[in-house]
Amino acid sequence: MDREQLRSRLDEDLRGIVAGEVLCDAESRSLYATDASLCEVWPLAVVRPRTSDDVAATVRWAAEHQVPVHPRGAGTSLAGGSLGTGIVIDCGRFFRRILRTGGDEVHVQSGVVAAQLEEHLARAGRSLGVDPTNRWVTTIGGLIGRNSSGSRFPRHGGMSGRLESARVVLADGAIVDLEPTAPASPHQPALRDGDTSPVPDTAAAGTAARLTRLASGVAEILGASRAQIAASQPSTRATHGGYQLHDLVRSLDRDGLVDLPRLLCGAEGTLGIVTEATLRTVPDDAATAVGLFLFDSLDQAATAALALRPLAPDACDLFDKRHLTLARTARPAFEELIPPVAAAGLLVEFSAADDQAAAARFDEAARRLQGPRALCIDVRRAEGEAEKAALWELSRSVVATLHGVRGTVRPVPFVEDVVVPPEAVPAFVRRLQDVLKECDLTAMLFAHASHGQLHIRPYVDPRDPAERLRLERLADAIYGEVVAVGGTIGGEQGLGLSRTPFFTTHFSALAGLFTAVKRVFDPQGVLNPGLVSGVSPDGVAWRPPLGLPPPSPTTHPVAPAAAVPAFAPLPLPLLNWTAEQLSDEVDACNGCGGCRSQSPSSRMCPLYRENPAEETSPRAKANLMAALLSTRLDPASLGQDTVRAIADTCFNCHQCRADCPAGVDIPAIVTELKAAHVEINGLDPQSWLLSRVDLLSSLGGAVAPLANRAIASPQARWLIEKVLGVARGRKLPPFTGQQVMRWAARRGLTRPSRRSGPRVLYFLDTFARFHDPLLVKALVAVLEHNGIGVFIDPRQVSAGMPLVAAGDVAAARRLASTNLRVLTEAVRLGYRIICTEPSAVTCIVHDYPLLLEDDEMERVVAATSDAATFLWDLHREGRLRLDFQPLSTLQQPAPRILYHAPCHARIGRDTSPAEHLLRLLPGLTLDSADRGCSGMAGTFGLSRGNYRTSLRVGLGLVSAMRSGGIEAGATECSGCRIQMEQGTSKPTVHPLKLLAKSYGLLTGPGPDGLDSLLSGRSGALTTS
Ligand SMILES: Cc1cc2nc3c(=O)[nH]c(=O)nc-3n(C[C@H](O)[C@H](O)[C@H](O)COP(=O)(O)OP(=O)(O)OC[C@H]3O[C@@H](n4cnc5c(N)ncnc54)[C@H](O)[C@@H]3O)c2cc1C
Ligand code: SF4
Ligand code: SF4
Repeated sequence: MDREQLRSRLDEDLRGIVAGEVLCDAESRSLYATDASLCEVWPLAVVRPRTSDDVAATVRWAAEHQVPVHPRGAGTSLAGGSLGTGIVIDCGRFFRRILRTGGDEVHVQSGVVAAQLEEHLARAGRSLGVDPTNRWVTTIGGLIGRNSSGSRFPRHGGMSGRLESARVVLADGAIVDLEPTAPASPHQPALRDGDTSPVPDTAAAGTAARLTRLASGVAEILGASRAQIAASQPSTRATHGGYQLHDLVRSLDRDGLVDLPRLLCGAEGTLGIVTEATLRTVPDDAATAVGLFLFDSLDQAATAALALRPLAPDACDLFDKRHLTLARTARPAFEELIPPVAAAGLLVEFSAADDQAAAARFDEAARRLQGPRALCIDVRRAEGEAEKAALWELSRSVVATLHGVRGTVRPVPFVEDVVVPPEAVPAFVRRLQDVLKECDLTAMLFAHASHGQLHIRPYVDPRDPAERLRLERLADAIYGEVVAVGGTIGGEQGLGLSRTPFFTTHFSALAGLFTAVKRVFDPQGVLNPGLVSGVSPDGVAWRPPLGLPPPSPTTHPVAPAAAVPAFAPLPLPLLNWTAEQLSDEVDACNGCGGCRSQSPSSRMCPLYRENPAEETSPRAKANLMAALLSTRLDPASLGQDTVRAIADTCFNCHQCRADCPAGVDIPAIVTELKAAHVEINGLDPQSWLLSRVDLLSSLGGAVAPLANRAIASPQARWLIEKVLGVARGRKLPPFTGQQVMRWAARRGLTRPSRRSGPRVLYFLDTFARFHDPLLVKALVAVLEHNGIGVFIDPRQVSAGMPLVAAGDVAAARRLASTNLRVLTEAVRLGYRIICTEPSAVTCIVHDYPLLLEDDEMERVVAATSDAATFLWDLHREGRLRLDFQPLSTLQQPAPRILYHAPCHARIGRDTSPAEHLLRLLPGLTLDSADRGCSGMAGTFGLSRGNYRTSLRVGLGLVSAMRSGGIEAGATECSGCRIQMEQGTSKPTVHPLKLLAKSYGLLTGPGPDGLDSLLSGRSGALTTS
């Protein structure tokens, strides 16, 4: 049976018996072919189980057909730990429940994200203790698979110290609850799993017998190899790559039990698939003292870390100069904190029962490092919790910062993760620098120094085959040095596909024991074969180059040659960039998985948060495009619905571009994918109509009285839903036709301004032009009040964002080209361009350069901003009038307003000018906490198909609007405004209207007065 036949057999067999999802199409498989490593291997299929039985059924099928199985959590392994040619079992999709909590234990499913568990435990004053930097992404299954740890390893150890027991699917599909188990006594027969001892007659007895067999098999290996284990896995506290045999010897000696759960930790899914786990938790620290020591050389920092060991710091992280420089450039706070002369730093934490005791421990450390030997040049001690958190950011963001370095040559995760005895760190760091020189390479170094864990990232171009050879030679040389000082490789980040070949070479005796243990659990080699022990003879499975002919089987041996057939040339790019620029953008995504985060401190990705499936994540889009560019995926896929469906899980909010450490332009990549689909298939009629919302608004406006009656009529809304696809439950704004343009013409605004001094061209876009005349009047009044000349060029058309979002690039180009002529003329005359709609700014600034080639583009982009930014800049220059009057409403003298920063207004900035402006207004109480994306995303939330998803995404914001005390909302985005008014009767207004009102420029009450908008009666939006 060839691979295709095997795949269709799998599809047929498993679809009927698995309650979860079975994905066999090439597009879905391409999303599971990579992780955060440099490796790529295409799986046969992907299964997303809902139950342990699903996992068991899949494993049974795989064992029967001799197909490997690869458990996966979030797919953030830096060594290719979840990749393989068989069936990937994605435990991160549905296994997300915390099942029980009590005392010092918690029972969870294996796909629970570490930070979500931490949030849950924090309510009871407890924690998991294990603190990986990517806790908002990584899953419990991944932490177990990797025996992960973090900076606080010296205090809390790694995952192996937390796992009490685990429900596991074994290699033959049996489901067992693994716990520490006594091996059989010498009088009992049949010690090996796989032996044909009599079958016990109850399930419990069967499981017990199974555990005894496993324990006995392992105990036999431990018993026969004690001396070898002691020599190869010295019992320092640092973690070791692979199976923790030294730990098992200890527990066997101590309790007479084989600690089977502990064996799972670091096993990288090779012994069993964890579906549930019982974890021991720790109480939160009572008090901590945190500080950053700075040094003038790496050598001094490494020596200082050693000097601190007797004080047993809870954490002691070492940063080299490159990292400190990157941190200084990335964040202004670090620029103040870290002087340029600092060549290395140590972040140190001490905990104690109270603040005083913690401070005393820290002071002792400072005395040692600043004393007669004067190891450090400076120390920055954090005062208070906010400063501690800020200092910790240096460590927390370390990997993200490394992942943020762009360019073909960048610090790559391949060698990293070696562990040396702590006392050997200073000498090893010196030797490391020599080895790098010998290999003519540079590297970044980050270390958990007090336990000898070093992360080394050499700068290379990972897609260049010659560089890869250099990288492999460097890895080999460094690992040789590690062996020489009695260390190990693949500590907290595993061996995976990148390091297992080297482990087998450098630690052959231990690798032999690992193979024996593997045989006890998985004699057929079903679970992640080739990881931890017995690696594939073909070596590392490198990611293929992008945009080049398919590599030959000898350079990319793990995926069979049949996976890279010759395809027709790719019809990309369709946007205004070169194929090389597109490849570079795609290549900048390193798979770190940061965009799977559901942390409240970032907003990416609203749709992934609502539906946490791999294809919804931003990195899925980059991976899909990479598969096309490397020709592993047939370009004909571009016309397929599967590609369109993946691309459609992006609604163009640009939050990934803002929050991704590498700033990957996922929206542009998605536009390419959608554009290609449209080029091949065209748009379906409803998408065509909805992407021309400007046309609908204009037509509605031409028959405004009729259209406004229609959008309020249930029967007409039913018809509109059927024909246009606009959800009938969605509140809609009334049509006002050409009112605004007529008013502007009467005011002389449609001619270039005759005022001297600063002048702006007001780019209206659709909502202001066809639905919100009051906003236009408010902005004009505010600008004129501040002596700014206003020009509303009547030749302008809509920006075209809905067309871009739909992938109708040709139509978007036509609008862009008309607007560009208008805007270029204005810019030449010295106008700034301002918009009240943030998405119009994004469209002009981000999308127009991707749509059109034009010499004047740069000037137009530089001159364009949203109105709030323009006014806030005016204020910062001291030129904004501040004659504001207190605002009041019918209910309150000081209304409480919920301000929502729209996604498109957040791109590229930490602050919100509109919020700053609102804070200038007297008598206004502003609530501006971030509740995430509104979920409206232009026309996305209008459509019947997306209506419910849109409401779910915006639930946080809508709930906040509903809360007592909030009288009204304020936001710049018209879509967000519609959503904020959707679930409540409270109105939401553009902040500029509040500004105008506070200046006394809009008088009320009355139909055009602001009081009516703040009176607690929404009325401006209409629903059936
Ligand atoms: C930005 C970034 C920061 C990182 N920081 C740290 C850090 O501070 N500390 C650290 O230790 N690591 C760190 N890592 C490495 C990696 O993320 C962790 O090792 C993490 O635990 C992997 O979790 P995951 O859910 O992504 O697992 P995956 O990558 O999906 O899988 C990891 C391994 O576990 C196995 N596995 C997954 N689920 C199961 C299961 N249910 N049953 C059995 N086996 C399973 C897989 O087969 C694989 O071998 C970092 C990685 C990145 C990209
Ligand atoms: S898009 Fe950014 S955050 Fe997401 S995986 Fe790629 S690099 Fe990481
Ligand atoms: S643009 Fe928004 S919806 Fe699209 S992938 Fe990025 S964060 Fe997700």
